[in-house]
Amino acid sequence: GYKSRAAYKLKELNTKYKIIKNGYKVLDCGAAPGGWSQVALEIVSDKGFVVGVDLNPITGINNKNFISIAGDFTTDEILNQVLNVCPLYDAVISDIAPHTIGIRDADHTNSLELVEKVYDFTIKTLKKGGSFLFKLFEGEGRKGLVERLKKDFKDVRIIKPDATRQGSMEIYIAALNKVN
Ligand code: SAM
Repeated sequence: GYKSRAAYKLKELNTKYKIIKNGYKVLDCGAAPGGWSQVALEIVSDKGFVVGVDLNPITGINNKNFISIAGDFTTDEILNQVLNVCPLYDAVISDIAPHTIGIRDADHTNSLELVEKVYDFTIKTLKKGGSFLFKLFEGEGRKGLVERLKKDFKDVRIIKPDATRQGSMEIYIAALNKVN
């Protein structure tokens, strides 16, 4: 089994969008407890590797192709550690999420702030042709973000939750095929 139910979500999204492939170097942001990293490790196989970053340490993934970094992704110190492991990634996935407080606007703003940090970093460290998948708590800032993504990626897909979870404010965005 996987360390999170989220693992199945990544499996489903990757089947559809092929964000991660065999042999890829993958950066997983907000990776604890590690479900996405487990799925990514299966896909990249022994030919690739996964770097997982989270505020909380990721334990129990015994795979020599997994590198875990514990720390805050919004700090230069951690970003430098990520770059020291690998300067250029084939895919960036981010399930990073703030603590929700139940106020929709605030949750959205906090989520967007984290996503923008990950996005800025992704622009520097994702190779041309690579893809970026991330979670966002839905809100008014999404439109502007997507406009920006459309300049950096050839194809941007917004993935809304299925009908059974219509109340959820959680969406995923797949930005495919980085332009430069
Ligand atoms: N994808 C994961 C899995 O499948 O196991 C679940 C990720 S969970 C929904 C979101 C994670 O984002 C939390 O573990 C949280 O600690 C992390 N997070 C939030 N803010 C962060 C930050 N500034 N730096 C690093 N991780 C952060």
